[in-house]
Amino acid sequence: MSARGLTKKQTTSAEIVLERPMVTRHYKMVWDLDRCVGCQIGPAVCPKDAVKHIPAELEGGRMVKRAGVDIDAEACIFCGMCAVMCPTQAISMTINGEPEIPIIDYEAFPKLIESTVFERELFDFGLKDFVVNNCPTHVISYNAEADTMEVDDAHCIRCRQCEVASSGAFQVVQPWEGLVRLQRDKCVEGCLACADICPTRALHIDDDGELTLADYYCIKCGACMQICPVKPEVEKYTTTFEVKEIEVKRERERVMNAHDLPIWVERWRVKHSPVDSGAWRAALLDMADDKAGAVEIDRTRALRRRDLLKALAGGKAMLERAKH
Ligand code: SF4
Ligand code: SF4
Repeated sequence: MSARGLTKKQTTSAEIVLERPMVTRHYKMVWDLDRCVGCQIGPAVCPKDAVKHIPAELEGGRMVKRAGVDIDAEACIFCGMCAVMCPTQAISMTINGEPEIPIIDYEAFPKLIESTVFERELFDFGLKDFVVNNCPTHVISYNAEADTMEVDDAHCIRCRQCEVASSGAFQVVQPWEGLVRLQRDKCVEGCLACADICPTRALHIDDDGELTLADYYCIKCGACMQICPVKPEVEKYTTTFEVKEIEVKRERERVMNAHDLPIWVERWRVKHSPVDSGAWRAALLDMADDKAGAVEIDRTRALRRRDLLKALAGGKAMLERAKH
């Protein structure tokens, strides 16, 4: 029997590889398990529930086995949503050997607006080794020939460590806006597990051995909430949103004990290229805090609201013209 159309899965300690050979297109996705931190975003964004969070193993409040994910090969439809949203750039996708993400090509999903830029004239090159060694993902290098600093942009996680380490010569745009809060008095005594998983060192152990949060570096991945032994209590509720003027209902969960959790992360808003699709709005409702979904939906509605159009300078004439 031909294997065409069936998904093949290979798992090693370093990666999960899914491949689906079709008649003219060979789909391949790779999850790099060294980069994966078992965040909240991957399992939330997958429309087919194919991404399962694998919890870390803890001993004495420290991580002894890393958190990660497993992928249900039969459920995965190779849409690429998780590859777009992965906060640690752990997922790559190719079609016929070339990088390609179908959900973006079909304009059903946006590109995230994120960047890391190096301004050579602002940099004190005496800091170059410090900046290179400080990057948590080791994606900065010094190009001696061009006498400049370079970033492997595909793997940069936008933590902003280089911004601070270089006194502003690196400038980073993070995709997510939101909040992270640490309440040390709510922690399980002696636990430091979130510092072990945090990919940005926003959560770290300071020189006195204390768990400390440097919130500026946080990318709102939520891996710290996943590993924390104090678990959220959730309640289910139904939300509605509009897709092409049809009301869609969706079941969601909300956390009831946020104020009792040692670590708390909110994702309010994500910077992205323009898109108007049900897939994106549904994904946003699953990934982000309630308010983020509401802001996007309000924006889409605003573009159609007659009272707002009319309030534009010359808006009344525009509406009149639109009638004819
Ligand atoms: S933003 Fe973070 S991961 Fe990216 S280059 Fe700077 S220090 Fe490295
Ligand atoms: S502190 Fe921020 S970057 Fe670190 S694990 Fe938590 S959400 Fe992710």
